Amino acid sequence: MSQYDVVVIGGGNAALCAAIEAAEAGADVIILESAPQHMRGGNSRHTRNFRCMHQGPLSVLTDTYDEAEYYDDLLRVTKGQTDPELARLAIRESETCLPWMERHGVIFQGSLSGTLSLDRTNAFFLGGGKALVNAYYACAEDLGVTIRYDSEVRHIDLSEGRFSAAVLTDGTRIEGRAVVLASGGFQADLDWLTRAWGPEAANFLIRGTPYNRGVVLRDVLDQGAVSVGDPTQCHCVAIDGRAPKFDGGIVTRLDCVPYALVVNRDAARFYDEGEDVWPKRYAIWGRLVAAQPDQIAYAITDQKAQGLFMPPVFAPVKADTIEGLAQLLGLPGDALRQTVAEYNSACRDGSFTPGVLDGLATDGLDPPKTNWARPLDTPPYYGYMLRPGVTFTYLGLKVTERAQVQGAHGLLPNVWAAGEIMAGSILGQGYLAGFGMTIGTVFGRIAGQEAAAHVG
Ligand SMILES: Cc1cc2nc3c(=O)[nH]c(=O)nc-3n(C[C@H](O)[C@H](O)[C@H](O)COP(=O)(O)OP(=O)(O)OC[C@H]3O[C@@H](n4cnc5c(N)ncnc54)[C@H](O)[C@@H]3O)c2cc1C
Repeated sequence: MSQYDVVVIGGGNAALCAAIEAAEAGADVIILESAPQHMRGGNSRHTRNFRCMHQGPLSVLTDTYDEAEYYDDLLRVTKGQTDPELARLAIRESETCLPWMERHGVIFQGSLSGTLSLDRTNAFFLGGGKALVNAYYACAEDLGVTIRYDSEVRHIDLSEGRFSAAVLTDGTRIEGRAVVLASGGFQADLDWLTRAWGPEAANFLIRGTPYNRGVVLRDVLDQGAVSVGDPTQCHCVAIDGRAPKFDGGIVTRLDCVPYALVVNRDAARFYDEGEDVWPKRYAIWGRLVAAQPDQIAYAITDQKAQGLFMPPVFAPVKADTIEGLAQLLGLPGDALRQTVAEYNSACRDGSFTPGVLDGLATDGLDPPKTNWARPLDTPPYYGYMLRPGVTFTYLGLKVTERAQVQGAHGLLPNVWAAGEIMAGSILGQGYLAGFGMTIGTVFGRIAGQEAAAHVG
């Protein structure tokens, strides 16, 4: 049996920020990470950037991105489903996080091309999330934090109305005076996803770590912690249907939709592919595909679209005719030919400008394609299979502005939470690119400071 000041559950960005803050405040800290060392870092190791408020040039960020604009952007994607105090706190504190991250070993670089046009709002990590996580682990080790890999926590002992120990799957009790819960969402628990979504969840792919199974989330909810969010709400994008079930990461995302025609299993279109610029629409396509029969869709382009979007990790299926493409994709050939013919005859002359709303819309087609609508007429034709790719779920723990967890009978006196496990308070629905890391960094730091202050 061991006793620590602060026990941190999880080994991703939020956990590491909490552990570093608590250790810097003088606490004796342990990190319990369920993954083995080579898989440490959860979903955070897949990331590339975080969204940061700045009132003037800041590190690699140019111009300004103030609180009002950032909050407006958030309101638009969440349709108002957010906690205004927590959201504004995350936004305001993001400005202080960037220099903190640099001081703790994160190196930033200018925006990469083909990355959803985020150059003013998002600071990119040199070496990606993996480099960030490695820098934080090195920093935590230097501060004397104990790190235990292969240590899945199955139970948080709250039996006296306060935290006393984390219990591992092998029964080991790790005792502590305070705990920070930073073990992510539940998206990798396929049974839980199925309970929330129904049998169609069997066709979902999980973009990140297989270790975020919501074991700790379930355990503390079962002990009366107050939940926020809807179990079916999540960040879900359209990814290549050939991606692995877990952990395919960023390269499996497909960005061809605005320049494609997207059909379902029956070769029927179902949504306006050109509704808005891709950074504002990429996060809705996972749910759109999830609503189709067999949770599958196919994006079809012709030669003209090649080079207009980030190339996917898997080569597309390619054929010289629409019928040939239908055969290779397993789609009904006659139906696909008819869908393409109807679309082509609804296309109008006009100037095509990728990347900005060009107004080149179909005429008399339902659903319409309202921008970038050029006929599919230049072989070879390309086909990309799409599946819903879940990034992280939003059901989580209710916390205060100090990241303290709300129990059945008031605040749990020595329990804090940060990252995906509480992000549902701020993300009721929708998503703003780079905000996951902002939430984890802001609330991870707060949770670590508070836990350390609590233990004195
Ligand atoms: C492919 C991909 C790309 C992304 N890109 C971006 C991006 O560029 N910018 C952005 O802001 N967000 C991005 N996100 C979202 C981002 O990854 C998350 O919002 C963020 O990493 C959450 O941090 P976290 O610390 O809460 O969770 P995680 O980093 O997932 O960490 C959770 C940790 O808990 C551990 N764990 C789980 N259960 C247990 C248990 N029972 N016991 C012990 N440990 C446990 C896991 O092993 C893991 O280490 C991306 C996600 C994916 C999948």
